[in-house]
Amino acid sequence: MSELNLILIGPPGAGKGTQAERLQRDLDVPFVSTGEMLRANVKQESALGKQAKRYMDAGDLVPDDLIVKMARERLQLEDAQDGFILDGFPRTLEQAEALDEMLSGLTRRVTAAVLIDVPDAEVERRLSGRRVCEKGGHNYHVEFDPPKRDSVCDEDGSPLVQREDDKPEVIRRRLAVYHEQTEPLISFYDDKGLLRRIDGTHDAADVHDHIRAVIATLRHEENV
Ligand code: ADP
Ligand code: ADP
Repeated sequence: MSELNLILIGPPGAGKGTQAERLQRDLDVPFVSTGEMLRANVKQESALGKQAKRYMDAGDLVPDDLIVKMARERLQLEDAQDGFILDGFPRTLEQAEALDEMLSGLTRRVTAAVLIDVPDAEVERRLSGRRVCEKGGHNYHVEFDPPKRDSVCDEDGSPLVQREDDKPEVIRRRLAVYHEQTEPLISFYDDKGLLRRIDGTHDAADVHDHIRAVIATLRHEENV
């Protein structure tokens, strides 16, 4: 085994996207966010986007069959053959089992599942203040990580917007969905000895340092 196949798990707003962006700068593997892929499909009004939109707007999960097909196609691309960081997939046990199956067919496997743990009250604070760059998807927070110029992305100057699903009632629904459908993945990966827990309540730089330390240990163990 000479590759790093990482999964990021955590409630919505835990900082998965923020950390994935930082990790991508350190690691030479693609970062795959199923949420970003779905939002791109919605924007393009593709067949998948049309099917997915109503679930996303309600804060519900898009059906497993659609997501698994999309993830399989993405992970088959050339750039993912030597490793990947998955953000937002798998999110149900069915998806986790499908991922295992996809990888084992290729004699690959998940290296580790990194859980970024943040309590519900903090999730609500983070999501209600989240602003995203319309173009590149960069994340900001009005209070915790404000852009240099109000409502404008530091990276590419695009306007910052609030996501439809970051409205309070949808946030509560997404949290409930996380507890019901995604939390079971914690014991799924823990039972396989693959879970690494990170306290996500610290500031983003500290969380990043902690994840890097975990990756360094994994690399040492795996000889990557
Ligand atoms: P966050 O990072 O804030 O949790 P995402 O951007 O990952 O949100 O996901 C946004 C929405 O896209 C989810 O609420 C859900 O509707 C849909 N989605 C993303 N990934 C998946 C997945 N693996 N399974 C089902 N639905 C998904
Ligand atoms: P996720 O991808 O898990 O849904 P994001 O990375 O988009 O989460 O982060 C959600 C919001 O919280 C964003 O507005 C982001 O700027 C902010 N944020 C991320 N990490 C932290 C942190 N460690 N402390 C405070 N705010 C954070």
